[in-house]
Amino acid sequence: MKTDIKSLTFKQLNTAIGGLSQPSFRAKQIYKWLHESGCESFEEMTNIGKDLRKRLTDIYYISKCETEQKYVSVLDGTVKYLFKLCDGEYIESVIMKYKYGYTICVSSQVGCKMGCTFCASTLAGFKRNLTAGEIESQIHSAQKDLGIRISHIVMMGIGEPLDNFDNLLLFLENVNNENGLNISMRNITVSTCGIVDRIYDLMKRNMQLTLTVSLHAPNDEIRSKTMPVNKKYPIDILLDACRKYGEKTGRRVSFEYTLIKGVNDSEENALELASRLKGSLCHVNLIPVNDVKERGHLRSSAETVIKFSNVLKRNGINATIRRTLGADINASCGQLRHMKKRGDADENSC
Ligand code: SAH
Repeated sequence: MKTDIKSLTFKQLNTAIGGLSQPSFRAKQIYKWLHESGCESFEEMTNIGKDLRKRLTDIYYISKCETEQKYVSVLDGTVKYLFKLCDGEYIESVIMKYKYGYTICVSSQVGCKMGCTFCASTLAGFKRNLTAGEIESQIHSAQKDLGIRISHIVMMGIGEPLDNFDNLLLFLENVNNENGLNISMRNITVSTCGIVDRIYDLMKRNMQLTLTVSLHAPNDEIRSKTMPVNKKYPIDILLDACRKYGEKTGRRVSFEYTLIKGVNDSEENALELASRLKGSLCHVNLIPVNDVKERGHLRSSAETVIKFSNVLKRNGINATIRRTLGADINASCGQLRHMKKRGDADENSC
């Protein structure tokens, strides 16, 4: 079995190349080909001798994401890719344009085991973790296809990043490396459904990234009904971890709160949420639930969303309502999935 060379950190690659009796500047050259240029074959590495390229090919492969389908939103230009991986599995990634540049929403797993009742990513179950190289390849493929430079990453695609913790760390190290994509930690957001043990593990690394927690409920009763992870890590334990995370890293934790009609969107729910979050350095992002055909959850009305937001603000909690992007191509939060065959709304592929 060959190893994915793109999943090695600079240090690991340096050691591996040293083991092939090569000087360390070679490792840097190869690293740049892989991570700065996003090259997909050893043949492309023109400043590396033929013999070494042959030896590398014998030991390693380069992970990549091949575009199977591309969808462009006519509403806002958001682009969604269905990528095929080396073993024939599929994932999706979304590129959004903001005033400050391009943001990519990357997947971290093929499928998801978390089972949140409102989310499409979990519908076809969990297949496998993505390698660090596969997570990064989503960025390279999109950049090359669109001819752009992506400046921000949100780990909000398919999968639970903290359930693929080791590969997440390798990925973060590589995208942050100055010989690679060189993306600042401050431009990276990691989203989790609340795997508390891993939040503490991440806290120990003291990185300057933004941690976002998918909360979606003001109490255990509602949260356990919609998010099975809450049974293992109840809300108070989760919020305690978030508080400590903010204190240790000095970074404000964000909370995602998807509003579902009649489930978690009442004034009472908003008041309970505000009292739970009181005193912690945080921000709440409100998202009217996006349509997932199989799930049948209903969106809260615009009026309810504004009311919910106002209750939070009146009670001292920072809150914003998330703008929906890519609504016509099923590219919004919770709508990504790893199946090749998709529904009617996806027929507008280019
Ligand atoms: N597993 C991680 C990363 C996924 S991020 C996490 O749970 O945070 C995707 C975000 O979209 C999460 O906040 C998720 O809860 C939210 N989401 C899922 N389904 C949704 C839907 N139908 N409408 C709006 N948001 C949804």
